[in-house]
Amino acid sequence: MAAADLSLIAYGDVVAGCERCALARTRTQVVFGSGSPTAELMFVGEAAGFHEDKQGVPFVGAAGKLLGKLLEGIGLTREDVYVANVLKCRPPGNRDPLPEEIQACEGHLFRQIELIRPTLVATLGNFATKLLSGKPAGITQVHGRAQEVVLGGNAVTLYPIFHPAAALYTPRMLQVLQEDFVRIPELLGRPAEPPPPPLPAYVPEPPVEHPVQLGLF
Ligand code: URA
Repeated sequence: MAAADLSLIAYGDVVAGCERCALARTRTQVVFGSGSPTAELMFVGEAAGFHEDKQGVPFVGAAGKLLGKLLEGIGLTREDVYVANVLKCRPPGNRDPLPEEIQACEGHLFRQIELIRPTLVATLGNFATKLLSGKPAGITQVHGRAQEVVLGGNAVTLYPIFHPAAALYTPRMLQVLQEDFVRIPELLGRPAEPPPPPLPAYVPEPPVEHPVQLGLF
């Protein structure tokens, strides 16, 4: 195993005991990240939700399943990429992250990026986009527009995309997401994939006691 892989695992072990903010008291466990430790492409979401908090893996709920399908549409799998969140712990009731929580947690994300050294970081939704671009522009304005930034000491292409959860409740968003995903191979310097067939609209499961995350637009 390469040194960087070991460092990422070791860093995950450290973060597992993090008490930098009050979410440490309400979480089931830290959701550090998952996927290839040497991925060229990294996705950054908002925060762990109900299922992620239980399983310790990011994007395993409905939004995660859609992320998997969108990846499949461009010839990639979850194992080819690395997936993490701005917040490593679930905010109670899936409320939006608080500024002080983002501030306490951002160092973990920057260290992950430093260790993984992706060339392309796709930010899913507002919180990740604003944090990693360092700019206040929201996802509606900047989605689908790649920008060059320095993250974890390396030049990286930042690619803001709507959060997949946005498409679960606004079907029109699914097409926008698919259109933005189609550009990913090109941003990775690979041949363009033929446009995937449109994904079927999401059919929600019966209501459960864990509300969806807000602040996606
Ligand atoms: N939404 C996120 O932003 N991250 C997850 O891990 C799950 C849902």
